[in-house]
Amino acid sequence: MSINVNENCEDIVSEQIQQLQKIIDESKNIVFFGGAGVSTESGIPDFRSVDGLYHQKWKYPPEMIISHSFFVKNPKEFYRFYKEKLLPSGILPNKAHKKLAQLEKVGKLKAVVTQNIDGLHQDAGSEVVYELHGSILRNYCTNCKTFYDADFIRNAKEIPVCTKCGAIVKPDVVLYEEGLDDHIITKSIEAIAKADCLIIGGTSLTVQPAASLVQYFSGRHLVIINKGDFYLPRGVELVIREKIGEVLDKIKC
Ligand code: ZN
Repeated sequence: MSINVNENCEDIVSEQIQQLQKIIDESKNIVFFGGAGVSTESGIPDFRSVDGLYHQKWKYPPEMIISHSFFVKNPKEFYRFYKEKLLPSGILPNKAHKKLAQLEKVGKLKAVVTQNIDGLHQDAGSEVVYELHGSILRNYCTNCKTFYDADFIRNAKEIPVCTKCGAIVKPDVVLYEEGLDDHIITKSIEAIAKADCLIIGGTSLTVQPAASLVQYFSGRHLVIINKGDFYLPRGVELVIREKIGEVLDKIKC
């Protein structure tokens, strides 16, 4: 009996993927909105999933460590955590990142809006990427604004300091207590509002501004690809409860 059930599930998924293919074929302005689930398939743990970072043992709660006031008060502990948990090395783009980059190249996909900070979309070749929470690949001196790459942070002994002026270097990542970049928000809203197809992947849509950004979509096709639980916005045409990389891998550009 269980074999039949599995076969039925596979049938449903392959039917859903065909439906997604049809949607992508007839769309001309696709925007992808993604979250942590897109990067978990590259081996980056999901901040908020049950077995993700937030439930691992640490001296302080992770939410406290990755906050602005903690960065200012205790940069040594901040960087100890940051380097170990948020600055992975040797991580590569997965099938989801690669397919999205291909869809952009053929002119179908116009923008990726992401909550991730790992830079994997750009690594895969995507050009228009709006990073709501910033990027670990960009770091700036808090005083003279000199740019430093991720390796500079990685190789710093404890607290990375500017080689020019000696001030502390800060990742261009939106910490707790910090606001999002208005320009990025505006660009994301513009892209979503113009899209004829919005594909939401690897996000529960429960963290702001994710849910509110999606409200700007008024196009034809709203698709959700997510294996875990998520908030279901109104007007969703297709829901695929599978791993995003596996699903997008089957799509032809
Ligand atoms: Zn400096």
